Amino acid sequence: MKKIAFLLIFVLCCFTFSGCGSLYNYTKDLTSYDMDILYDETKHALTIQQTTDYVNTSNNILSYIKFHLYPNAFREGAKAKVVSVQNSDLAYPNGESYGDIKIQSVETSGESADFEVGGEDENILTVNLKNELYPNDRAIIYIEYEVTLANINHRLGYGENAVNLCNFYPVVCMYESDDFVCDLYNSNGDPFYSAVSDYDVTITYPNSYILASTGNQKTQNFELVKKTNILAQCVRDFGMVLSKEFQQKSGVIDDDLTVNYYYYNDENCDQTLEFVKKVMTFFEEKIGKYPYSQISVVKTNFVHGGMEYPNMVLISDNIIDDETYELVIVHELLHQWWYCVVGNNQFDYGWIDEGLTEFCTVYFYEKHPDYNRTMSEMISSATKSYKTFAKVYESVQGSVDTSMNRPLDEFATEPEYVYNTYVKGTLMFSTIYDLVGEKRFVNALKYYYENNLYKIATPSTVIQCFSRGTGKNLEDIFTSFLDGKVVIK
Ligand SMILES: [Zn+2]
Repeated sequence: MKKIAFLLIFVLCCFTFSGCGSLYNYTKDLTSYDMDILYDETKHALTIQQTTDYVNTSNNILSYIKFHLYPNAFREGAKAKVVSVQNSDLAYPNGESYGDIKIQSVETSGESADFEVGGEDENILTVNLKNELYPNDRAIIYIEYEVTLANINHRLGYGENAVNLCNFYPVVCMYESDDFVCDLYNSNGDPFYSAVSDYDVTITYPNSYILASTGNQKTQNFELVKKTNILAQCVRDFGMVLSKEFQQKSGVIDDDLTVNYYYYNDENCDQTLEFVKKVMTFFEEKIGKYPYSQISVVKTNFVHGGMEYPNMVLISDNIIDDETYELVIVHELLHQWWYCVVGNNQFDYGWIDEGLTEFCTVYFYEKHPDYNRTMSEMISSATKSYKTFAKVYESVQGSVDTSMNRPLDEFATEPEYVYNTYVKGTLMFSTIYDLVGEKRFVNALKYYYENNLYKIATPSTVIQCFSRGTGKNLEDIFTSFLDGKVVIK
């Protein structure tokens, strides 16, 4: 996600194969989601039948499976807020509005199953299995449910111009350290953590709408409705946006990557599409091949600057100036590499994807002087703004916590999260860039990417890969930043 807070702008935000592409020889068995969705525009609701074919990748025998129910964070009385108080007016243009998810029935192995909607904040669905599930075995869970949308400019909700359908479905919680990871929604950052999976989704919707989404679409037109089937393989999440006002421009890179731009007002749409192609081409060269066949940039109603989903990024329609609009596009497209392909626990270690994404954005501008931003100016601006943040916090609160390795719910405020994750993350990678030089840094980007395709990177993965990729032991630099010991001068 991109939150706008400082610098020149640090926006608040966000083949044919089995497995993940012959390109990278990913052959691991994946969990798959099959969904049949009906969108009711009058009720602003989705009726969904979902079949999840879950693979037990743990070493434990499981008797139940847990799913996140993110739409319940949008309900009245939710403990976890979806936006901070400061962003509330922008998010809710017509006042308070609520949505939720109602689980109607669950089956496993073709029979009705025991299930419970619970967790700390009605955020978790627990499904009890008929039979114990052994490591590497599969369980099929069929769920019928309805999602009601709030009138909110957010990842999930309907706004004036578009309907954002992201984090709308029960997604299996990651399983780590002998338990499912069930973190709550959080208005800071992107509170998501998931494994790459395969998706086969069919959505039926009024034929006045245009659909942007993750994956590859095939649409049938009927008298009143459209029915679109979407296939997406080896993706970390799945999102869609519907709008009656979308216009679409498309281009191709290297004959194998389609670039789509969906917008409802952009006088410079051709220029925007060319910019997207330029960004994708540049980072395919500097980081590694983008392994999917399409990327869609979607201008939509969104409270923050932008938000990333596999094959699709949301860019806010409330960004006024072209330069900021482009900067947010660079940021969100970089998340295709950092988060979507190389995954991380965004709840616990937001700096892993946000810090590297922000610094790579700076690197893009350094290598494209036509856009009038240089690395030295951007880093100097980031340094100044970080120092101001630390000074203000110290004077108001008596002390400032500058550690970076904290889960989202341990940052007291939104600025504390943004400055320690985005801004300090930029300064950390900039320090490493200055130390090792461009060639070794780019080598580390490629090394980190190639060795973590579709996997989950942890802090130690980042430290090891950047040390190996640059040929320098960077552990002390990383830990001094992460632990808050380094003094920003
Ligand atoms: Zn981001």
